[in-house]
Amino acid sequence: MAVPPLATQSAAGRLVVIAGCMFAGKTSALIERLDAARRAGRRVVACKHQLDARYDAIHLATHDGRTFPAIAVPDVEALRRAAADADVVGVDEAQFFGPPIVAVVDELIDRGVEVIAVGIDFNVRGKPFKPFPELKARAAEVVALTSPCTKCGKPARYSQRVTPIVNGDMVGGLKDYVPRCDDCFEPWSGPLPWD
Ligand SMILES: [Zn+2]
Repeated sequence: MAVPPLATQSAAGRLVVIAGCMFAGKTSALIERLDAARRAGRRVVACKHQLDARYDAIHLATHDGRTFPAIAVPDVEALRRAAADADVVGVDEAQFFGPPIVAVVDELIDRGVEVIAVGIDFNVRGKPFKPFPELKARAAEVVALTSPCTKCGKPARYSQRVTPIVNGDMVGGLKDYVPRCDDCFEPWSGPLPWD
């Protein structure tokens, strides 16, 4: 029987979580890993939620202009389909998929896929974003990234909303959030779309 070429063999399934506040360099860290996997000949699929069209609809994009081709998907079913033939699946802004992403991640890991789930792990109230506690519990590797607090410069893990939330638009843009450390963070006290 013919031995399959290296490129089609999958590594053991595992989950890597890269989490942090806005401006922490999460997408850069993801692109670095995806580039390395692609150079190693692995089949790489990058996805982002369709909700997030802040920079580029078909590329992962960093604030400093690095990109990686990506598929914009509206829900976890589409994510599952997009990941069908991949050895490595990167999911940017994983928080937008909510708790249903956990079952898909489990399936992919079982199939021998390396999943790299990236996103903001704390919401504007400073509470964990739903999928992340469960994802971190499954992760073989958790990378916690921070950004300097805009008030005191200490490492920040929270994203503070600094503009009003209009029509339930929680995604917002760069001008809507600032990184804040544990001491300086002021949790959002107004109503939220999911309340
Ligand atoms: Zn601070």
